[in-house]
Amino acid sequence: MQIRFTQEICLEEIKRNVIKVEKILLLFHLKNVAVHRYRYTVKIVFEQYDPPHCVVCGETTEELLEAAHYVAVKDGGADIAENGLCLCSIHHKLCSSA
Ligand SMILES: [Zn+2]
Repeated sequence: MQIRFTQEICLEEIKRNVIKVEKILLLFHLKNVAVHRYRYTVKIVFEQYDPPHCVVCGETTEELLEAAHYVAVKDGGADIAENGLCLCSIHHKLCSSA
């Protein structure tokens, strides 16, 4: 069966693709906003410590430090800097799995 691409079909196809691209751009934008928000929150959490360090073992290697939640989000904790504490990746994993 041969499909004839009438002007109407072409316009429909263009509309569909524009909607697809808009959705992709929106998701990309939302992801960027989330990443910026996450980085900003982590920065605020780290600034509460001088120098930033794991509150359990005292590790100060920046690449190993993470912002953890005092009260986990799944337990109703807010995803904000006031609910944050600085942990190394090992202690973050241990606390999260406890
Ligand atoms: Zn630690």
